Amino acid sequence: MLNVPSQAFPAPRSQQRVASGGRSKVPLKQGRSLMDWIRLTKSGKDLTGLKGRLIEVTEEELKKHNKKDDCWICIRGFVYNVSPYMEYHPGGEDELMRAAGSDGTDLFDQVHRWVNYESMLKECLVGRMALKSPAPKDYCEEKKVLNGVFPQSQVTDTFAKEGHSSPSYDWFQTDSLVTIVIYTKQKDIGLDSIIVDHQGGSFRAETIIQDHSFLIYIELSHEIHEDFSVRVVENVGKIEIVLKKKENTSWKCLGHPRENHNSLIPKKDRGFLWLQILHSDLYYRKCQLISKEDVTHDTKLFCWLLPPSTHLQVPIGRHVYLKLTVTGTEIVKPYTPVSDSLISEFKEPPLPNNNYIYFLIKIYPAGLFTPELDHLQIGNFVSVSNPEGNLKISRFQELEDLFLLAAGTGFTPMVKILNYALTNIPSLRKVKLMFFNKTEDDIIWRSQLEKLAFKDKRFEVEFVLSAPTSEWNGKQGHISQALLSEFLKRSLDKSKALICVCGSTPFTEQGIRLLDDLNFPKDEIHSFTA
Ligand code: FAD
Ligand code: NAP
Repeated sequence: MLNVPSQAFPAPRSQQRVASGGRSKVPLKQGRSLMDWIRLTKSGKDLTGLKGRLIEVTEEELKKHNKKDDCWICIRGFVYNVSPYMEYHPGGEDELMRAAGSDGTDLFDQVHRWVNYESMLKECLVGRMALKSPAPKDYCEEKKVLNGVFPQSQVTDTFAKEGHSSPSYDWFQTDSLVTIVIYTKQKDIGLDSIIVDHQGGSFRAETIIQDHSFLIYIELSHEIHEDFSVRVVENVGKIEIVLKKKENTSWKCLGHPRENHNSLIPKKDRGFLWLQILHSDLYYRKCQLISKEDVTHDTKLFCWLLPPSTHLQVPIGRHVYLKLTVTGTEIVKPYTPVSDSLISEFKEPPLPNNNYIYFLIKIYPAGLFTPELDHLQIGNFVSVSNPEGNLKISRFQELEDLFLLAAGTGFTPMVKILNYALTNIPSLRKVKLMFFNKTEDDIIWRSQLEKLAFKDKRFEVEFVLSAPTSEWNGKQGHISQALLSEFLKRSLDKSKALICVCGSTPFTEQGIRLLDDLNFPKDEIHSFTA
C-alpha cells in the first residue's frame, strides 16, 4: 500500500500545529534568522571543523561531543555538528542540547519531522555512524584470498594518516534491480569522481578519492543489462549504481572478487614512461569514432562515443590515454578531453547525453600515433583509458584572477577550465588567456575565443605569434618576462590567483622559471605535464 499522507491540515505534527500549540519558540538574536543561517552555510566556512572530510563516528566518539561549543547529534545514522547552528535554532539551544552526543532521531521525529534537516544541516555533516560489525556480503566463497597487489591495510593506514576515513561499499536488491552503494566519506564527490564499466560479466567501479582510487571489481554472479544508472548524493559523499537484472531472481551474492577488489589504491606518478603504461594497470574501454572535423589546417576535433556500459566523465584538467594497435603493436599517447565548444550556441542542438568524449588533436605527418588516428574511419574504435592527472578543483574555490598560458595544443586543458571557471566560480573577476602559436593559421578556436571575450567581459585573450606574417600587428615572440609581467596583473592587490601553464615540456619549464623570477608563489601555479 502506498504511504499517502493524511489529508488533515495542518497535519498532526506539522510546524503550524506544534508552533501554535505545543513547543514554544525562543526569540532569536539579531542576525540569527533562517536567512542568516542559509547565508552562513553558503559562505564556504568550515562548519564541522573537519575541513570538508566526512568521518565514520563510533558511539564512543559521539558521546564525547556533548557540549554547547562541541555538540554532535546523530539523526538517522548521520552525525551533524550542530554547535554552529545553536544560535539559529528556533526551538532554542536547550532543546538541541537534549540530544547532544547521542542519537537524537526519536527526539527529532517528535518535534521536527517536517524539517528538511538534510538540506538545513548539510554543511554540518560530520559523517556516518560506524557499523558495529560489517560483514562482507559479496564473497560467494568464504574468506577467499584476493589477488590484491596492494595490501589494503597499509594503504588504508596512509590514507588515515592523511586524515581521511576509508571508503566502503554495500549492496541491496529488489526483484529487478541491484544497487551498489559506495560510501566515499568525502564531500567533494561528483559524477566525475566515479568511473563504472561493465564488460562481459565483469563489473568495475573506480572512485577517485583525493590521490587514491577505491576499486570495486567483481565477476557478477548473474547477468545484467548493458546500461545502468549512477547517482551521487554529494552532501553525504554517497554513490549509488543501479544495475538492471536480466532475470528477476534473488541474488545470494554479488559475485566473485577480481584483482584489487575492495581496495584503496594510491595513484602512481607515471611520468613520461609511455612504454610502462602499455603494461600497466590502466583500464581501457573501446569507443567508437562518431565525427572528425577540421579546426585548423592540422588540428581536428574528434568525437568518440563511449559504450552504454561505461560511465566516464573526465574531470577538469585531467587527461586520458588513447590506445591503438598499429601493425600488431599497441601504441599509447595521452590526450586531454575538451568540451565540444567554448560557447554553447556554437553547436546546436547539443548531443543528447554525456556519453561523448571530445578531443582537439594536432596531426603530425611524421608522428607515430596521430597519423594512425587520422586514418580511422567513422565507426572505427580506439581504446580510452581512465583519467590521470592531478589538478584539484579545490584550487578554483574563491578564485579571483585566473591566468592561462598555453602553447599550441597546450590549449586543450584550458578549454574545460575556462568553461568551468566562468560558470561556476562566483568570486572570479578576471580570466586571461595568453595563447602562443607559430602563425595565425595555427590558432585553435580563434573566433570562439574572440566571441567569448566579447560575450563575457571577465575574459580576455591575447595571441602571441612566433612566426607571424608581415600583416600581423599583435604580439610577437616567445614566452618572456616582459610579456608576462605586463600580462599577469592582478585585479586587486592581494587577489586570490591561479596561473595554469601548458605546452611542450621546454615551454612549460620556461614558463615556470619566469613565474618564479616574477615572484609568483608555487601554490599559485599549476603546470600540466603527463
Ligand atoms: P610523435 O611521434 O611524438 O612526433 C611528434 C613530432 O615530433 C613529429 O613532428 C615528429 O616528426 C617529431 N619527432 C618525433 N621524434 C623526433 C626526434 N627524435 N627528433 C626530432 N623530431 C622528432 N596533443 C594533442 O594534439 N591534443 C591533446 O589534447 C594533447 N594532450 C596531451 C596531454 C598530455 C598530458 C601530454 C603529455 C601530451 C598531450 N598531447 C596532446 C600530445 C600527444 O600526447 C602526442 O605527443 C602528440 O599527439 C604527438 O604524437 P605522435 O605520436 O603523433 O607524434
Ligand atoms: P607548437 O606549434 O610547436 O608551438 C606552439 C608555440 O609554442 C610556438 O609559438 C612555439 O614557438 C612555442 N614554443 C615551443 N617551444 C617553446 C619553448 N621551449 N620556449 C618558448 N616557446 C616555445 O606546439 P604544438 O605542436 O601544438 O605542441 C604542443 C605541445 O604541448 C606538445 O609538446 C604537447 O605534448 C604539449 N601538450 C601537453 C599537454 C599536457 O597536459 N601536458 C596537453 C596538450 C599538449 P616556435 O615557433 O619557436 O616553435
